[in-house]
Amino acid sequence: MSIRIHEERCIGCGRCTEACPGNLLFLSVKGKAQIRTVEDCWGCTACMKECPVSAIGYFLGADIGGRGGTMTIERDGHFYHWRVAQPGRDDVVMTIDRQNANQY
Ligand code: SF4
Ligand code: SF4
Repeated sequence: MSIRIHEERCIGCGRCTEACPGNLLFLSVKGKAQIRTVEDCWGCTACMKECPVSAIGYFLGADIGGRGGTMTIERDGHFYHWRVAQPGRDDVVMTIDRQNANQY
């Protein structure tokens, strides 16, 4: 399990680099977020919750029943929309109050 950074969406704000408890993220010389060692990511999703442009996705591999899908988080005022996209299926969206986001 790990994140995937969509470079084309990243605006280089650096919020994810400050949020990662493992100090795994940094800004490249191009000003885009990158992960140092993807195998060290334990999927806490802190970086995803901080990203203002949904540039970080979470890969849902077969090891956790994810069928190769991706989860992204969209910020919307007081809410997060957690979107799970799987090949060949409709997206599933869960909306959660940001104040309660760490309960899930
Ligand atoms: S999911 Fe957690 S551990 Fe992985 S890069 Fe993001 S903040 Fe760091
Ligand atoms: S929080 Fe999002 S936009 Fe900001 S540097 Fe990280 S990936 Fe890029």
